[in-house]
Amino acid sequence: MELAEAIWKKACNELQKKLHEDIYSRWIAVISAGRIEADAMVLYVSNDIYQSWLEENYLPVIREAVAEVSGETYKILFEVHHDGMLPLPPENILPAPEKAGVACQRRRPAPAGAGALGGVLNPRYSFKTFVVGPSNNFAHASSLAVAQAPGKAYNPLFIYGGVGLGKTHLMQAVGHEVLTNSRGHIHYLSCESLMNEYIEALQHRRIKQFRDKYRGTDLLMIDDIHFLSKTGALQEEFFHTFNVLYDAHKQIVMTSDRPIGEISGLEQRLVSRFEWGLVTELMPPDFETRMAILRSKQKTLNFTLNEDVLVYIASNIKSNIRRLEGALNTITSYASLYKRPVTVEVAEEVLRRNIDHERRNPITINMIQKHVAEFFDIRMADMTSKQRSQNVALPRQIAMYLCRRMTKSSFPEIGAAFGKTHATVLHAHRCIQKRSIKDKQITQAVERISRQLEESSVLANQA
Ligand code: ADP
Ligand code: MG
Repeated sequence: MELAEAIWKKACNELQKKLHEDIYSRWIAVISAGRIEADAMVLYVSNDIYQSWLEENYLPVIREAVAEVSGETYKILFEVHHDGMLPLPPENILPAPEKAGVACQRRRPAPAGAGALGGVLNPRYSFKTFVVGPSNNFAHASSLAVAQAPGKAYNPLFIYGGVGLGKTHLMQAVGHEVLTNSRGHIHYLSCESLMNEYIEALQHRRIKQFRDKYRGTDLLMIDDIHFLSKTGALQEEFFHTFNVLYDAHKQIVMTSDRPIGEISGLEQRLVSRFEWGLVTELMPPDFETRMAILRSKQKTLNFTLNEDVLVYIASNIKSNIRRLEGALNTITSYASLYKRPVTVEVAEEVLRRNIDHERRNPITINMIQKHVAEFFDIRMADMTSKQRSQNVALPRQIAMYLCRRMTKSSFPEIGAAFGKTHATVLHAHRCIQKRSIKDKQITQAVERISRQLEESSVLANQA
């Protein structure tokens, strides 16, 4: 066996231990050993998208593994080779052919347009159920205009706003409306699903099908596009898809939890394209709108609460419509379970948790790092250090895990705050998730630190 091959084989064993199995099979198993060249180890990949993704995200961990097994600090270089050395896509990714005859008869006719969808539209998210008020009437009107004249009114339509303010609802309402008016092809999916699909396509060499699918659509809706930040290769792909659709006057709708300019790591050419059409913001609803939303939800739940209870909820839950709904659900289930009339006092008691939450200050990455460092009695600097001894590495992983769980930050953003790559954070997250199932000490540490964080964020707010 060649030296390069022998080293790479051992390095793979190491990497398999270190990385989550998905990551390993998706990104590492597709690499093959190349050759040793002076102080460099050359590895082969099947296309340049693998190359750039690996270079951006997995270089340090690959370098480490190679160093560990060879005792040499090789530079790692990737080379694109289109030859047959790389693993072929598994055969079993295609669904097994159904038994002839039976399947055809059983197959129900698809609902209108559903066959053309990437994700699934929630039937509740229509324009009919969307309550309009001053906080959202511009976004609503723009979406309606787009839905009635896709590709003509505003293209692209970019809707942004905080969590739980109706972005997904509004975007899907556009989808429903387009489906009722036309026979066009539409695709709705989250940016994360797009990323996964793209990776699958790369892995199974189906990039052409991926392209055809999204470039042949009449309406493309991508939810939570802020996840596009720092996904180099996908941004490149999305850029071309965007251009094709735009030139063909096909409608693009995107949502984001922040304004375009604040999506870190978004290429400038995408920033400017996203701004070509109409950018509209969803704001937290005012009191009247909150009341109207509660009344409308009440009707669908078929449950009537006293007006003063609705006022109590609407006055206390202000920043998130999903939570507003959650509070209403909690109270209605309480009332039907205990068969007690709901008074404001009861509501106060039942909703204490929801409302405490509302009064909280957001928990930041920095706060999490501090609390975790204190808990484990390590230095704050260890959170961002390169030191890999277990007494530092484990707390750091727990901190990363908590950041994903308790803040709105994406994996790349958390990575940046820890001086690590997004792959490291992803790995830490999965690792803690897995270990906390079996390891009581980890579960307890995680729970205790998150309780401390929650308490301190309430205190910070009262101070
Ligand atoms: P986002 O995508 O902005 O996080 P969603 O679209 O998921 O928020 O909305 C959260 C919940 O609030 C959903 O159940 C949605 O139906 C509801 N909602 C949001 N805005 C409105 C509105 N204006 N009228 C009625 N329900 C709303
Ligand atoms: Mg959403």
